[in-house]
Amino acid sequence: MAAQTDVSNTVASTTDSVDLGPAAALSCRECGHRVPLGPVFACQECFGPLEIAYDFSSYDTEELRKRIEAGPANIWRYAPLLPVPADVADKPNINPGWTKLVQADNLARELGVDPGKLFVKDDSGNPTHSFKDRVVAQAIEAARAFGFTTLSCSSTGNLAGAVGAAAARAGFRSCVFIPHDLEQGKIVMAAIYGGELVGIEGNYDDVNRFCSELIGDPAGEGWGFVNVNLRPYYAEGSKTLAYEICEQLGWRLPDQLVVPIASGSQLTKIDKGLQELIKLGLVEDRPYKIFGAQAEGCSPVSVAYKAGHDVVRPQKPNTIAKSLAIGNPADGPYVLDIARRTGGAVEDVNDEQVVDAIKLLARTEGIFAETAGGVTVGVARKLIENGLLDPTKTTVVLNTGDGLKTLDAVAGTGLSATIRPTLDSFREAGLA
Ligand SMILES: *Cc1c(COP(=O)(O)O)cnc(C)c1O
Repeated sequence: MAAQTDVSNTVASTTDSVDLGPAAALSCRECGHRVPLGPVFACQECFGPLEIAYDFSSYDTEELRKRIEAGPANIWRYAPLLPVPADVADKPNINPGWTKLVQADNLARELGVDPGKLFVKDDSGNPTHSFKDRVVAQAIEAARAFGFTTLSCSSTGNLAGAVGAAAARAGFRSCVFIPHDLEQGKIVMAAIYGGELVGIEGNYDDVNRFCSELIGDPAGEGWGFVNVNLRPYYAEGSKTLAYEICEQLGWRLPDQLVVPIASGSQLTKIDKGLQELIKLGLVEDRPYKIFGAQAEGCSPVSVAYKAGHDVVRPQKPNTIAKSLAIGNPADGPYVLDIARRTGGAVEDVNDEQVVDAIKLLARTEGIFAETAGGVTVGVARKLIENGLLDPTKTTVVLNTGDGLKTLDAVAGTGLSATIRPTLDSFREAGLA
């Protein structure tokens, strides 16, 4: 283990006998080198990112399907496919997931999509109102297995809230780091659970760099950073979006998915989840397309995609979609691979289009999305207009967060009129 200490921080007990269910090892996404499960995230051989490798060899398809369907109405129904112990549902955890897949016929009509073909996967229904609860729920099980007592993260806002809540419930200390100038709703959501919340004078990429330094320093010793040294475990949580979407469609792959990109982790793990379902025989193997969505003010992956590049040039973010504002996305190159391999694309919309899309989704389907949801709906609209998204095919658009956290984006939305409490006054206002 000695050679790994440069990419991990020390904890009391590490890998001797961790029980993380079907998780068998960590495997390098670049060179395939395998190491035992532990709080490490970079390959000793090539510094590539590590991800979980599983042993699913003992599963029978029909038995597995039945076991999942009999499971709890949260992500732990998929415990046999995740890096968590088999008794995970009995542990104190925020138990996210099994959010609604809304058949969005009104939105479909507005966008010119065939009736019954458009769905919104609404992850605003998670415990802290964003998709981040899925990834944190996994990371906290890894933190428990590795003996960490303090949880931390670098966050664009939603992650800080998810870590705060999960740590409170599971009895960890938390200390999380965000850019100091985030939306008020995100700051309060991150602070209310009683952990420490530190604002850093800089953007997310500065916060992330700071956390990487902290991990290597005695000050951060024994800390589990959910999206740094626990990243391989954290990232797997996004697979549950893929599992749920397919199960909710009646164990069927959608034809097209529109997925937001911050670091790109969610998009790459949705693809991993779909591939696993195919390999396990839980869905029929047919082609699907994954489309990535960014805000124009932070569109490094979209720019690289359109230019035909394999590398992603970092940007300095400037957009209202702050939860997606990662200028140097770690999974950017993998997103490009997936978009190209599946026949999808990566597209971006400007802030005005984001706001229009938030309002469109709200008035058609009664779903109030945060700016990230405005990005995916806006990008879906743009992709239909430019012919890349097929309006006759089953399409799932992700809403990953709650509009109550980004109220400033829709400032000016409010009262239709202010009247005296009389019928005359009501009639005068022209609303009768
Ligand atoms: C973090 C986040 C995402 C996606 O993040 P990735 O880093 O790409 O996995 C999407 N939507 C919201 C609202 C988020 O907070």
